[in-house]
Amino acid sequence: MSDITHVSAAEIARSLAQGEISSVEVTTAYLARMEATEGVLGSFLARSSNALEVAAASDQARSRGETPSALAGVPIAIKDVLCTTDMVTTAGSRILEGWIPPYDATVVTKLRQAGMVALGKTNMDEFAMGSSTEHSGYHVTKNPWDITRAPGGSGGGSAAAVAARQAPVAIGSDTGGSIRQPAAFTGTVGVKPTYGGVSRYGVIALASSLDQVGPVSRTVEDAALLHDVIAGHDPHDSTSIPTPWPSMADAARKGSQAESLAGVRVGIVKQLVGEGISPAVKQRFDQAVDLISAHGGEVVEIDAPHCEYAVAAYYLVLPAEASSNLAKFDSVRFGLRVTPEGNPTVEDVMSATRDQGFGDEVKRRIILGTYALSAGYYDAYYGSAQKVRTLIQRDFAQAFEKVDVLLSPAAPTSAFPLGEKLEDPLAMWAGDLTTIPVNLAGIPGMSIPMGLAEDDGLPTGLQLMAPAYQDARLYELGATLERLITDRDGVMLSMTTPEVI
Ligand code: GLN
Repeated sequence: MSDITHVSAAEIARSLAQGEISSVEVTTAYLARMEATEGVLGSFLARSSNALEVAAASDQARSRGETPSALAGVPIAIKDVLCTTDMVTTAGSRILEGWIPPYDATVVTKLRQAGMVALGKTNMDEFAMGSSTEHSGYHVTKNPWDITRAPGGSGGGSAAAVAARQAPVAIGSDTGGSIRQPAAFTGTVGVKPTYGGVSRYGVIALASSLDQVGPVSRTVEDAALLHDVIAGHDPHDSTSIPTPWPSMADAARKGSQAESLAGVRVGIVKQLVGEGISPAVKQRFDQAVDLISAHGGEVVEIDAPHCEYAVAAYYLVLPAEASSNLAKFDSVRFGLRVTPEGNPTVEDVMSATRDQGFGDEVKRRIILGTYALSAGYYDAYYGSAQKVRTLIQRDFAQAFEKVDVLLSPAAPTSAFPLGEKLEDPLAMWAGDLTTIPVNLAGIPGMSIPMGLAEDDGLPTGLQLMAPAYQDARLYELGATLERLITDRDGVMLSMTTPEVI
């Protein structure tokens, strides 16, 4: 068999099931690929020390007739925001340097129970605040398509790892786009499930009313298989949805076989395709829409007027919730403790620790959020932002009375050069305009590759959005569109990462 890192996770699973290859062989191939490329890319913050043992255990289980899931024996990379008892967990922050959590996140437990093989923890913007992974407290991750470009963020490590074949699939988290925007920048598939679809127990919280965990992969089917492994109610997470989910893998398979899009109603969100979208991204988006119409889908324009205020509302809700969530990093219970000279008080220790342990972007947001929540300002800022959020939810609810799925570009541009936005927080934040409304509304969103941008030859992402609980619709239509785009281009973009490294 040719290099196993070139095929999808579903294909690996089929080869494992047929006994053509062992999990130890697959894992060895990925570890070798990681070894060869990691020095340039920097996708990981920690590597597993026992991946081959886990793989061997998976092979033994299979030989006993035990295959706990469709992805048993398949390697996976995990964003460093999820707690792992066998690997350091830092959320990309120096304040948690060297911290080994006392328990696994539920998602990590599910991956282990599914027989998957964790390869390592992926790099991210500190506490998932950022859109380029440059705010990591450790190092910058490069985009495998062009190492002078950002891989997106905050989950740039997971996306770069999958795009560069360091891992077949990965776990990400998405509070304002951190799965979907890096997917768009790296030509991979990324899904933010419905709010509450996947447990957040053991996921270091950024903004609790927005955070969701989801899959990163190279095909829609792979994302669906992983989604099926991680989704479901968790008694440890009171926000997790108790109703059972249909099989996303079945939805993806159905979509990949669909003859046409007749009867599918698709809405284009006017506010997400205008100002701020680069001409090259717009061109690819229009081509994707043409493809839908050409195959019988009904395309209508949708007005979601309050999306215009989404970035402003998000950058109040998020800092407010983050400032509260991050208060627990006080030098007493976790990680770093900096003790100033002399006779420091507890407050001096906390303040020195937070000053040294947090990076600039995190401090910026804590200050903003604390201000927004302060007495006398709460209603004006957090309160107003929550009202805007309700209006955005209503815009989407009305839109979904007319259409099954909404579309927009997943990111307004292709991957921008490293350093370009680092000193300009507002420019960095403005780039989140296409992904943020989805988090504010709590609905599911997916990014799939929609072709290379004509100007810089880099990947662009198409975002699909569905009503809450209808994640399966994303997989069904996503798989159809993935096939149509592949047929049009004669190649599946996500499978063709150029060998720049
Ligand atoms: N780029 C967004 C932000 O900086 C997304 C963060 C996320 O989804 N974790 O807040």
